[in-house]
Amino acid sequence: MSALISIRELYKTYQRGNQPVPVLMGINLEIHAGDYVSLMGPSGSGKSTLLNLIAGIDKPTAGALLIDDIDIAALPESELANWRAANVGFIFQFYNLMPMLNAAKNVELPLLLTNLSSSERKKQVATALELVGLSDRAKHMPSEMSGGQQQRVAIARAVVSDPTFLLCDEPTGDLDRQTADEILEMLQLLNSKFGKTIVMVTHDPSAAKYATHTVHLNKGKFVKAEELLL
Ligand code: ADP
Ligand code: MG
Repeated sequence: MSALISIRELYKTYQRGNQPVPVLMGINLEIHAGDYVSLMGPSGSGKSTLLNLIAGIDKPTAGALLIDDIDIAALPESELANWRAANVGFIFQFYNLMPMLNAAKNVELPLLLTNLSSSERKKQVATALELVGLSDRAKHMPSEMSGGQQQRVAIARAVVSDPTFLLCDEPTGDLDRQTADEILEMLQLLNSKFGKTIVMVTHDPSAAKYATHTVHLNKGKFVKAEELLL
């Protein structure tokens, strides 16, 4: 079976003033549909950069990034927005909810890019909130919810449009152990029961154990776990 996400000799170099900052240096990775990949590595090793490239938020400097055989680096921005809306659910460390919108309105946001009717949107929002166990918080504002509840709203927002894969950037980095475990179990359910392919950046070794694969990034290259200790 061909890979869902195929990363080949991928390079990313940022420019700081006229100083090049190489961040990803020729990485290769294949992620298959249904995989749950945990992406580990020290701070500054390029983990968020890689997620942003997979999400089509940023463009690689060189190399190929094929998703479902589409070279997303080559898509024009107008097509990329539609591609992203249909395929990518993003979950952030600090939830990134809109503070002025209640839980249901936050979850509805990605659906405003589709041509679903208002009643269809409401139905999907209700289903997503139920999935994360927050049906009774639909009208609550983010400031009225705990960190764990806000992250569950963010998960509902990420899955409401039924995307192909979920990209999570340290989704439990701001949560206590017990709440982190609840979030990790929710992500695992989305993977095992709903077949969502997941790529999750994490520093938490116990988060990585939920994954089907773990890869380690160090200074812009994939390394074996043992090499990180050297
Ligand atoms: P990680 O998520 O693993 O901590 P990042 O991918 O955020 O690492 O960053 C990797 C490196 O790239 C860091 O050295 C960071 O300073 C640099 N970097 C990230 N974004 C930019 C940018 N927009 N411009 C310049 N340098 C950047
Ligand atoms: Mg990061």
